[in-house]
Amino acid sequence: MRVLVLGGTTEASALASLLAADPRFDATLSLAGRTSNPKPQPLATRVGGFGGIEGLARWLRDEKADAVIDATHPYAAQMSANAVAACTQAGLPLGTIVRPPWQRLEDDSWRIVPTAEAAAVALGKTPLRVFLSLGRQDLHAFAASPQHRYVARTIEVPEQAALPPNLKILQARGPFDRDSEARLLVKEEIDIIVSKNSGGTATYAKIEAARELDLPVIMIARPEKPAGHVLGSPEEAVAWLHGCASGSRRGV
Ligand code: NAP
Repeated sequence: MRVLVLGGTTEASALASLLAADPRFDATLSLAGRTSNPKPQPLATRVGGFGGIEGLARWLRDEKADAVIDATHPYAAQMSANAVAACTQAGLPLGTIVRPPWQRLEDDSWRIVPTAEAAAVALGKTPLRVFLSLGRQDLHAFAASPQHRYVARTIEVPEQAALPPNLKILQARGPFDRDSEARLLVKEEIDIIVSKNSGGTATYAKIEAARELDLPVIMIARPEKPAGHVLGSPEEAVAWLHGCASGSRRGV
């Protein structure tokens, strides 16, 4: 069975390992190309956009794909929308691994906002020291609130022209642990954190550290993300693919 895995996440890497070890699958992993030095993968890997819905539909046809698994990040809504449209067009089964969001606990002080732009406004007028943990693509939004001092952690150096003036970049890739996150927040004298609700364990430590240090978090809400058949884990995705394969063999 020829499978396309839309990746860029921990779940996509785990699924890549499962599919690579299973001779019934001939799978390709697709990465957006957001990081210049991605982790080596056990599957054939292609990098970069397909060229919208039409480009993806063409790729699926040309490569004779039998099924697609969308294991993209919870905030990668465009890729997921394209996957739904292209798979509908091509008549292919699409499974989507959905990572549950983090839930606010009693001791958490969260303010939920819809976008990075809204987060920049929500920081208020009084200068603060802000820890930005949201990837490099959204950092420009904070140029509109230049009164704050920012510490941003990103995997790659940001490339936007418009960035806030007082910005320190810490280049690092998760997973992170709670003690080192707490040490970092204290060392940088952080007053407030801006985060995406990525879910999962790899980047949850900053939320635990914020709770421990009584720091408020501005949480950027998840976008609406179209999905195919909802799957809870890479293992579930493999079982679902097996079902698709036997279904198509029986002609259903
Ligand atoms: P997006 O807005 O959903 O996608 C934008 C375009 O990037 C897509 O239309 C597609 O281009 C290309 N693309 C995205 N994922 C792809 C994949 N797996 N394979 C091939 N092409 C892909 O997603 P994004 O711009 O990558 O990220 C949106 C947010 O998600 C970011 O702000 C970031 O915080 C978060 N995020 C993304 C990743 C990731 O690996 N992408 C990882 C961690 C966090 P075409 O239309 O040309 O096909």
